[in-house]
Amino acid sequence: MIPKSIREALEDQFNIDITLENSVSGGSINQAHKLETNQGTFFLKWNQSAPDNFFEAEAKGLELLKSADSGPRIPSVIAWQKPVAETPGFLLLEFIHEGAGNSSDSFHFGEKLATLHSTRSEKFGLTYDNYIGSLPQQNKPYDDWNTFFVEKRINPQLKMAIDSGKLSQGILANWKRLIHRLDDLLPPAKPCLVHGDLWGGNYLFDENGNAVLIDPAVYYGHPEMDLAFSKMFGGFSNSFYDGYESVNPLPKNFSERVPVYNMYPLLVHVNLFSGHYTSQFEQFIRTF
Ligand code: ADP
Repeated sequence: MIPKSIREALEDQFNIDITLENSVSGGSINQAHKLETNQGTFFLKWNQSAPDNFFEAEAKGLELLKSADSGPRIPSVIAWQKPVAETPGFLLLEFIHEGAGNSSDSFHFGEKLATLHSTRSEKFGLTYDNYIGSLPQQNKPYDDWNTFFVEKRINPQLKMAIDSGKLSQGILANWKRLIHRLDDLLPPAKPCLVHGDLWGGNYLFDENGNAVLIDPAVYYGHPEMDLAFSKMFGGFSNSFYDGYESVNPLPKNFSERVPVYNMYPLLVHVNLFSGHYTSQFEQFIRTF
């Protein structure tokens, strides 16, 4: 059930009257519902305990992605609200009617992601911080990718994991050795707009076979970050990668760089879930 306070906020502030609500499963953090209303069909998500600016950051991320020319489809943001007194923070989006994508749709998805990545900025990062899943993501801008990756992606997550006892201090020696090799391991890139949390659960195909990106953790980053992330849990077909490379061919040996980029989502999973993610991370970092 949608909390009464959200129902009232939608009515009072946005003139949206709900006529039917159905819960939607699949989210990892928030509660979600499909709404039929006097203004159309919408997707509502809310969270009783999300930080104040959580849905604002998601709404801004979706809008930034949507402003990119010819990228994948992005649901329109209809409304969002910070938590106020009894009312939880919420985000109301255009509802995407899901379809089944085929291999040609996956190819187009790859092409569109590559086009999204052609949206550039002067610096790596973003003018505001946001979240990756439920964890804070710092985006203070830097001129070069490797420094940004070290300072704003890996170090904060490593500190969180070590402070909470999930990882031992000892791995810092391995991390320092890896840092010294980063310039050799990762090819240079211009700051590109990335989705930032591109695992298989964060896209869907609409009823026309267009891929739709949801739940972003946007920033201007190395374009290979999105592609590496997409490999972490699978869910992307070969056609997707073929489509991507038809627009933006990757420098050779990408597969060898994947575990380096994926230290970031892996550390996020260490901090959120520990378990086998911790041993997976330790195993990788100890090779340095
Ligand atoms: P969470 O923030 O909790 O991870 P998601 O944003 O991933 O939640 O949404 C949960 C599920 O709801 C998704 O897996 C997807 O199937 C569905 N979904 C997300 N956004 C929309 C939308 N705009 N329209 C229709 N379904 C959506």
